Amino acid sequence: MLEKSFPLSNKMRISVDHEKLGVFSQSHVKFYLKYSSFVFRALKKPSFQNFLHWMLKKEKIEEDAVRTVHVKVLPFRRKNGKCLAGTCNTSRGRIRIYPKTMKFCQTFKQKFGRNTLLVYAGNRARAALIHELLHLKYAEDEKTVRELSEDYFLTCTQKQPNQSSKAFFIYTMIFHAKISGEKTLPSGSNEPSKRLKLNEACLRASGVLSKPC
Ligand SMILES: [Zn+2]
Repeated sequence: MLEKSFPLSNKMRISVDHEKLGVFSQSHVKFYLKYSSFVFRALKKPSFQNFLHWMLKKEKIEEDAVRTVHVKVLPFRRKNGKCLAGTCNTSRGRIRIYPKTMKFCQTFKQKFGRNTLLVYAGNRARAALIHELLHLKYAEDEKTVRELSEDYFLTCTQKQPNQSSKAFFIYTMIFHAKISGEKTLPSGSNEPSKRLKLNEACLRASGVLSKPC
């Protein structure tokens, strides 16, 4: 049987700024290459592509409005130190999805384990793509984009039967464990320990970490 093809899926690429590679150590580069290929596969999963297709139709966003979705290998830090989860150039239809930093991932893995980190990384990228796609329609209206992103992400986790049951708790982590004053979503703080404390409290409250490891 021929696999159904999704127009958005064909526009996705892993992309690296070669001139920035030299700034990172070999172990960092190896880590970020692995991270980006994992995220790329997570975003290309037919069940998620199917969901995006449905969401774009519901929002009446033409799939042609998206020209490229680049899964960036290296993280992007803004001048204020915050790491971005994604960007959208609405006039060019160019979306970029960025990774969490290696430092954040290492701290996260130590606390919650590798599997939870993988679930987190995949879902963070999904949430970021949903968010950036909505910017194509709502442009600068960050409030609406954020509210809708949250609704759609929740629908997305419910629609996917194969998603780990942890996905819902990850949702809470992505959308509700924000540090006060953090404006953009779903970008995180670059202070892993501070953010992880909130995440931990969140996972405990939701029961994921109720049993001692
Ligand atoms: Zn935004």
